[in-house]
Amino acid sequence: MTSTETRLYRLGEFHSFEAAERKFLYLVPAGAVFELDDAATKLIERLSSGEAVHDDLIQELVASGYTYDDADELLGELYHSHVIVTGDTVLEPLANPPADFPLQSLVMNLTNQCNLSCTYCYEFGEDKVATPEGKPKFMDLETAKASVDFLLSQSAQRKSVHITFFGGETLMNFPLLKSVVAYARERAISEGRSIDFSLTTNATLLTPAIIEFLSENNIGVTVSMDGPPDLQDKLRVFANGRGSYDIIEPRVRALIANHRTRPITARVTLTSGVTDVLRIYKHLKHDLGFHEIGFAPVTTSPDRLYSINERGMDGVLEQFHILAGEWLEFALRGEMHGFSNVSDTIAELIQGVNKSHPCGAGLGLVGVGPSGDLAPCHRFVDSDTHSLGNVTTGIDREKQSDFLTRGHINSKYDCHTCWARPLCAGGCHHEAFVRYGDTGHANLHYCDWIRDWTDTCLHIYGAVSAKNPEFLEKFAERKALS
Ligand code: SF4
Ligand code: SF4
Repeated sequence: MTSTETRLYRLGEFHSFEAAERKFLYLVPAGAVFELDDAATKLIERLSSGEAVHDDLIQELVASGYTYDDADELLGELYHSHVIVTGDTVLEPLANPPADFPLQSLVMNLTNQCNLSCTYCYEFGEDKVATPEGKPKFMDLETAKASVDFLLSQSAQRKSVHITFFGGETLMNFPLLKSVVAYARERAISEGRSIDFSLTTNATLLTPAIIEFLSENNIGVTVSMDGPPDLQDKLRVFANGRGSYDIIEPRVRALIANHRTRPITARVTLTSGVTDVLRIYKHLKHDLGFHEIGFAPVTTSPDRLYSINERGMDGVLEQFHILAGEWLEFALRGEMHGFSNVSDTIAELIQGVNKSHPCGAGLGLVGVGPSGDLAPCHRFVDSDTHSLGNVTTGIDREKQSDFLTRGHINSKYDCHTCWARPLCAGGCHHEAFVRYGDTGHANLHYCDWIRDWTDTCLHIYGAVSAKNPEFLEKFAERKALS
């Protein structure tokens, strides 16, 4: 074992950044942010030019005015935080989750039918992975009840669990949604547990009665919507090609005005020609009144007409930077901004997230289709290739383990030297499948973009932690919008 005195130190793995005139490190093996004081900065600068032994570093610090004890304590702290490491430092790879990892969330695809024909839809479009032929189009009550029972039995001792209703268009099976809420709540109460609900909808079928039900039952709502009329109507169309904006606009307004119990979120899919992030944000936030807006570039093969090219993605990033700047101004005043792409990342940073997998798919979350077949998440529902069993027979542990092993960061060699991996972990499994034909492939087509965006969020995190640290506490419990 190396003695303390002769220990040879070098720099650990981190990404450094400055914010609010302070210096920070994002410690990659820990997924944690570390603020540097003057002495630590000096030491990092010293080690940037090469390795050094413990005693020499102490002497150098003492020569610059630090006491021996302070210098020794600093070295100890930096070593234990892995800011500096030695030749015999062993960083454990992130472990695989246990085989019986308890479920937290179930995404129930109440139907695989939709009344819109959005060109880019991952469920029906050119990149679809679903094979719904011969399977039920609508979930029935028996399967829905079996799904709830499955969630409760597979979530072990978790005090609270979550159901997200999804489609197709979720509200095409609204009577079933109502029955599931009643049944699941009763079952959860009988076990002394709580259950929370949310749904995603295209908003075309919202009625005052449905809105009242959602509000009374404290059900979170995300509306899939792409912006003002000219952008919404480009690809979010009915089967006859007619745009959907005129239909949904009054319904969205009614939803926001009358749903009293939860904030209402819009989820925007960015596509070629629908990349005007600032205009979309302004319309959804200020003209319609959504509380939060999240943006995601379309998941597709690069040769589709609606896929966004590199220049388009650069333009998106530039506009993200502008909204991120607004987010920071709001945060420093103690106000919430509605750009959820920042809020979600800040939440992950304050929670010290260090992902073995990019998301909860197949882990704490599974999707269930109208037939009761299980899938890693809603995007794989009804796909024979990705089935993970059925709610009546249980999870196929072998398939689940194969999915999770392939999707684990340890299997993504390209990511092992990337400082953004605690948050990215290779990116969405579904996107990886569409792009590379393998759910376990790292999404290497957007790494620079991801690192730039992560760096932006780190700057915001650093600035808020320096100037208004209490504000960050608001994100300690937040779960990312799926
Ligand atoms: S996919 Fe790219 S950005 Fe993400 S962790 Fe891997 S190398 Fe980093
Ligand atoms: S990130 Fe991708 S794989 Fe994960 S839940 Fe979302 S769509 Fe599914």
